[in-house]
Amino acid sequence: MDARILAAVMPAPRRPIEIREFPRPDLPPQSALLRTARAEVCGTDVHLWHGRLSGVPYPIIPGHVSAGTLEAVRGPLAGIDGQTLREGDRAVFFDVHRTCGRCRACTVHRTPTRCSSRRVYGITDSATEGLFGGWAQAIYLEPGVGIARLPDAISFDDYIGAGCGLLTAVHVLERAALRPGDSVLVQGTGAVGLSAVALARLGGAGLVSAIGAPPSRLALAKRMGADHVYDLDATEAPERLEDAHARTHGEGFDVVIEAAGSPRAVEEGLDLVRDGGRYVIAGHYTDVGSSSINAHRHINRKHLEIRGCWGSEPGHFLRALAILERHAARVPWREIGERVYSLNAVNEALADAEAMTITKALVDPWLTTSPEPRAPSPDPSLL
Ligand SMILES: [Zn+2]
Ligand SMILES: [Zn+2]
Repeated sequence: MDARILAAVMPAPRRPIEIREFPRPDLPPQSALLRTARAEVCGTDVHLWHGRLSGVPYPIIPGHVSAGTLEAVRGPLAGIDGQTLREGDRAVFFDVHRTCGRCRACTVHRTPTRCSSRRVYGITDSATEGLFGGWAQAIYLEPGVGIARLPDAISFDDYIGAGCGLLTAVHVLERAALRPGDSVLVQGTGAVGLSAVALARLGGAGLVSAIGAPPSRLALAKRMGADHVYDLDATEAPERLEDAHARTHGEGFDVVIEAAGSPRAVEEGLDLVRDGGRYVIAGHYTDVGSSSINAHRHINRKHLEIRGCWGSEPGHFLRALAILERHAARVPWREIGERVYSLNAVNEALADAEAMTITKALVDPWLTTSPEPRAPSPDPSLL
């Protein structure tokens, strides 16, 4: 790799992305430089571009979940699972770092995703500090970052197709306390919703339904494990409720997962979950406005459990890897990543993600032509 490393920088909200050169960093002990193979453009990047997240130290290099090859290691470097990491290893890393482990959120409440010291690659790390984002030819992995060797069974496209959505979904399913045979409804068929569908299926759900759009994502939801889907644009809430009751002994779903990011979805979800069920809200990563809730009808009388889900922990990262290693050959995670863009085309990638004309845009910082379709799945067989 050259001494100069190219990165795509978001200078401020609503400003075009710029390509900037960064010096190759000097590595302190227990750090590494990852040559980026794949990064992603996720919904968070669109929110970042819209300036909808607080505490973001622009300019930033976006791209919080990425995969690559260890270009340089200043060791000895132990991975998050204790393995020794070496130059040339295919590797991925947990994007959250500097969680303090000492504050009340970390120790007393055991909610480390609410630690105020935590920083996230590509989101709350500034480009003024260096290569802390995936839309770059290389990423600096500082001491303390949780790095893992990417198992041989997982391709870069498998990993990045699943991406942050799978990590989030692992946490969501944990919060949902899924029991074998449960009926599950997932609201939203973006990256989080699609992974939640797959995990509900793998986790032993008796019925997995999803509400979403457009038809291409609904078709993918079925291939990820949904038994049936509701087209958001072609059905109305009252008919979805009636159909849901017909499928669930007139009760509604045991578990409803909100991964839609819409206040109306929350209102509908509270109707679709059964009395005494669980409702997990994971799609409201930014403030999209208020939902109208009747506390008597929706919560109190319903004896309902409503849970939020914020961020992910190292355990969710390792569980996501274990799931991909076992199931990526059969569950088409890689197909969530739809098109690969070069650094020069990330403005286009952002625009496509914003318009939701693609499920997920991928970034290959070494690509010179762009965009191009992702390589097809070798085994697109049904789950
Ligand atoms: Zn993301
Ligand atoms: Zn803390």
